[in-house]
Amino acid sequence: MLLEGKKAAIFGVANNRSIAYGIASAFKREGAQLCFSYLGDSLKKRVEPICEELGGDFTFPCDVASDDDITRSAEIVAEKWGKLDILVHSVAFANRDDLKGRFIDTSRDGFKLAMDISAYSLVGLARAFAPLLNPGASIICMTYYGSQKVITNYNVMGVAKAALEASVRYLAKDFGPANIRVNAISAGPIRTLAASGIGDFHQIGSLFSARAPLGRLVTIEEVGNTAAFLASDHASAITGECLFVDGGFQSVAL
Ligand code: NAD
Repeated sequence: MLLEGKKAAIFGVANNRSIAYGIASAFKREGAQLCFSYLGDSLKKRVEPICEELGGDFTFPCDVASDDDITRSAEIVAEKWGKLDILVHSVAFANRDDLKGRFIDTSRDGFKLAMDISAYSLVGLARAFAPLLNPGASIICMTYYGSQKVITNYNVMGVAKAALEASVRYLAKDFGPANIRVNAISAGPIRTLAASGIGDFHQIGSLFSARAPLGRLVTIEEVGNTAAFLASDHASAITGECLFVDGGFQSVAL
């Protein structure tokens, strides 16, 4: 098993269609110990049964918009486990109105919100958890091709993902001397709760399937398997990287 003896904190499970659920399931299969954050009481009710189903050790609340919540999360994980080996950031948010229409209409507040929850939170979590991460540890976040190319309606989230990907590179530089790796996975479109907020998402999915060399959508299981590899010692020289799990979509121009 790839992750035997490793402990993983997973941020971003909302339900069993979440990419973070696919990642946690692969980690479980590969022998990792798990704990899960949840956002607010309504998601607590969903995340707790998932933690139980996957044999996780504990859950804890965390709104990544709050520095106090981030600090408290690290304290809880330190109290329960001491150290850990894997931090998964699978979190993003933007106002629904900013995920349709013209990018130029993004408000200052909408821009700040998307950047805060979807990009800065990786930096905040990485800093809070830094003292707890064992040598050889791995930080993984989720991104999308809309960071590099214009995807209709993705708008401010594309800008936030560009900031997230740049943050991965700078964090990788900071963490390198401690032998801690930081990477992003760029997944193809998957029908999740977050994706349902993007205007005409079904159309992105069909265009994607038509153009991707593999001719189909990707699954949360496939993203989970890639995350398990990145978190494992087999990826010990990979850091500051953005790994595409997109059926080859981004490699094709026409
Ligand atoms: P999801 O809705 O299942 O997960 C998003 C998670 O973000 C939820 O668990 C939600 O609770 C959490 N979140 C939102 N605001 C938060 C806050 N303030 N504090 C803490 N948590 C908060 O959707 P998903 O598609 O699994 O998204 C996971 C990640 O994958 C996101 O970063 C998303 O941008 C990325 N991604 C998704 C796709 C896709 O097509 N679904 C493709 C590429 C990348």
